[in-house]
Amino acid sequence: MLLGRGKWASFFSFDQKIIDIIYDAEKKVLPYYKKVEEVVRFNQAKVLYAFKKGRVGEECFSPSTGYGYNDYGRDKLEEVFASIYNAEASLVRPHFVSGTHTLTSCFFGLLRPGDEFVLLTGQPYETLRRVIGINGRNMVNSPGSLAEWGITCKILDNGKEKGPDLDKLPSLVNKKTKLFYIQRSRGYDPLRKSLNISELRQIIKRAKEICPEAIVFVDNCYGEFVEYNEPTEVGADLVAGSLIKNPGGGLSPIGGYVVGKKKLINRIADRLTAPGLAGEVGANPIGYRSFFQGIFLAPHNVGESLKGSIVSAAVFEELGFNCDPRYFDDRGDIVQVIELGNPDLLRKFCRAIQEVSPVNSHVVPQASPMAGYDNDIIMAAGTFVQGASSELTADAPLRPPYHVFIQGGLTYEHYIIGLANVIKEIYRE
Ligand SMILES: *Cc1c(COP(=O)(O)O)cnc(C)c1O
Repeated sequence: MLLGRGKWASFFSFDQKIIDIIYDAEKKVLPYYKKVEEVVRFNQAKVLYAFKKGRVGEECFSPSTGYGYNDYGRDKLEEVFASIYNAEASLVRPHFVSGTHTLTSCFFGLLRPGDEFVLLTGQPYETLRRVIGINGRNMVNSPGSLAEWGITCKILDNGKEKGPDLDKLPSLVNKKTKLFYIQRSRGYDPLRKSLNISELRQIIKRAKEICPEAIVFVDNCYGEFVEYNEPTEVGADLVAGSLIKNPGGGLSPIGGYVVGKKKLINRIADRLTAPGLAGEVGANPIGYRSFFQGIFLAPHNVGESLKGSIVSAAVFEELGFNCDPRYFDDRGDIVQVIELGNPDLLRKFCRAIQEVSPVNSHVVPQASPMAGYDNDIIMAAGTFVQGASSELTADAPLRPPYHVFIQGGLTYEHYIIGLANVIKEIYRE
């Protein structure tokens, strides 16, 4: 017996049975951890190489004020991001308030009245539905939406297991088609899977064959550093995401990023600031140290989170729950979905994660309405950066069949403690 095995459990009174469940699952998933570790090493080297090539120095961390003209740190951070993603250019800004805002800036920067675009991965992430102006299959002119501006979209349905039904794509494309949108992660849609890079490569290739002029735009939220390549390296023209998810490494306190073709980045920058000003302005009075250090740590943190998701899948499958992905599946993002089946278990699950969070462990998460979401959302997020899902978080819309979505975890150890507390909470009676 390993000396000190399970000694950590005494702080939270986890009993021997819980320890055994976790250690048994860990033994089972070890080969999958090895795969994750190789990807982490590759991405760590990739990021380090970009830092070295860009000659990142202390001077890059300084804050800027006012208009932010000639902001050396900002320009260097964007150079490093472009280099990591093998892209021509990037826009990495604290002025993007969230992932939704970043993606919205892309849509409005690139599309004009009369244009049409195709959602290649079915219904988009919930907060984007109001941005686009769709309700189910119908366009609705919700205030400020793309629809209100006369920009329309077509939806390609997902084959349940297979991903997008690309045979149907030609019938959705016409003279007005300007852009294809691909969402890599699943969002709160339990019926679809996240897409891995080889699937993305195929989808992008087919889309380009059907309409070579259209921009291929990938929502990369939760997908960064999960695999050896990023979507820009398999044909995407434009990729966007949030800095309080994977690429912030837990340290970026705010922001979003866009990487891709220079011409497109400039148009998005014009939309974020003002036509003609583009990316030349935009100060950051808190400085760039946390952004640089965050992207440096991101590959490792994504690895911790992936291992946590893998072992949760093994644990909950053993306990009789449906898990998606399963512990041995290839992953395209850091999210683990567990079907809990009833609202009571869902509340217990989120409460248990919150209880062992570093921040606000004493509060009890309650389901409540959230801007941009249709159902009430329950969210355990005892995070240093508010709502940051690069940190260990569990959330869910309160609706059948009560799937919980867990992701993040800056350290694997924290994920394990979270998992132990969930098991304790669920089997308390
Ligand atoms: C989180 C997420 C978004 C939106 O990001 P917010 O920062 O929550 O606005 C968009 N798309 C996907 C796939 C996401 O996971």
